[in-house]
Amino acid sequence: MTSIHLENLTKSFGSFQALKTMELKIEDGEFVALLGPSGCGKSTTMNMIAGMEEPTSGRIRFDDRDMAGVSMGKRGVGFVFQNYAIFTHMSVYENLAYGLRVRKLPESEIDRRVKAIAEFLQLTPMLKQPSAKLSVNILQRLAIGRSAIVEPAIFLLDEPLSNVDAAFRAVMRTELKHLQRQFKQTMVYVTHDQLEAMTMADRIAVMDHGVLQQTGSPVEVYNNPANTFVAGFLGSPGMNLIKGSVVEEGSSVLIDMGEFGKSAPLPGALATAVRARKTRDVHYGFRPEQASLAALEGGLPIFFVERIGARTIVHVGRDKAAVKVVLDNDNGLEAGMTARLDVNPGAVRLFDAASGQAIREV
Ligand code: ATP
Repeated sequence: MTSIHLENLTKSFGSFQALKTMELKIEDGEFVALLGPSGCGKSTTMNMIAGMEEPTSGRIRFDDRDMAGVSMGKRGVGFVFQNYAIFTHMSVYENLAYGLRVRKLPESEIDRRVKAIAEFLQLTPMLKQPSAKLSVNILQRLAIGRSAIVEPAIFLLDEPLSNVDAAFRAVMRTELKHLQRQFKQTMVYVTHDQLEAMTMADRIAVMDHGVLQQTGSPVEVYNNPANTFVAGFLGSPGMNLIKGSVVEEGSSVLIDMGEFGKSAPLPGALATAVRARKTRDVHYGFRPEQASLAALEGGLPIFFVERIGARTIVHVGRDKAAVKVVLDNDNGLEAGMTARLDVNPGAVRLFDAASGQAIREV
């Protein structure tokens, strides 16, 4: 088993800096998701771990071994891409067996391992079939199996589920997690799909514009985003961020949010953190499921009610300055009504308006 250490890693293509800075230690046996919008540098980071790209500066270590100049084949990594690389002229069995044959394992061992992985990935009924005619879903499952069968210490997956259909994606999320638990590989998983990252990863590394924004457990990054980018990127809908300014009333500290009114007094630790700062301009943040709305004459206008099955997203405010609140679907609120907004005080997160950085409780 192997840990991966990315030290001050950067990557430029000509004058364009695809990865501006990356410092990340992935522990032995850990499942880390690199999550971020398209073009943020996830694949570039992954390709450098795999040995397909050389870093412009910085270092990659697997345990204590510096990977500079070590070819892909010598790194001991398994790599699965968005576009499965399958030998279409071979059967499913032969595709799975390929890596073991290259390693010259005895035939009985190859047969045992092919059957075991086929069973695990539900490929047993297709073992004799030619790969050329398989569906996209099955091909991607096969691609994962083909890489996993050689039991690499490090398993890299770059958007492996983006071409498969939604129902199959849900199944594969569970299976990939099981696979990693069973083989205990160090797993790095590139995705722009937060659901995949949230459900599978031990830790998520959120990236934007070539910069690592935050790392933490899925719950940590969701509940305590380091900045407004992470706050808005995670969650569906993302965290509400309302422009406001700090005001002190007697012994209380609260946030004046213009049309959204004044907040409840901030909890003690957050109030202390805000008082300690010179700047007054903040973003008042809270998750859409951490607030309630009650019909109130003269309250905030409700301008859109989005029904999504069990839940309803209610949009309040004046269009562009909207706040979204997620409620049960029997809430009785309709567009055109007005309502009072109450935010769970423990769920309030504040961000510096200029830097976007979280104002942490002290
Ligand atoms: P996506 O999910 O769209 O692949 P990503 O986060 O994986 O996004 P990268 O593929 O790492 O992003 O690309 C980061 C940036 O670097 C992008 O702007 C991309 O156009 C650029 N880039 C990547 N590879 C090269 C290259 N070989 N030459 C020039 N620019 C490149």
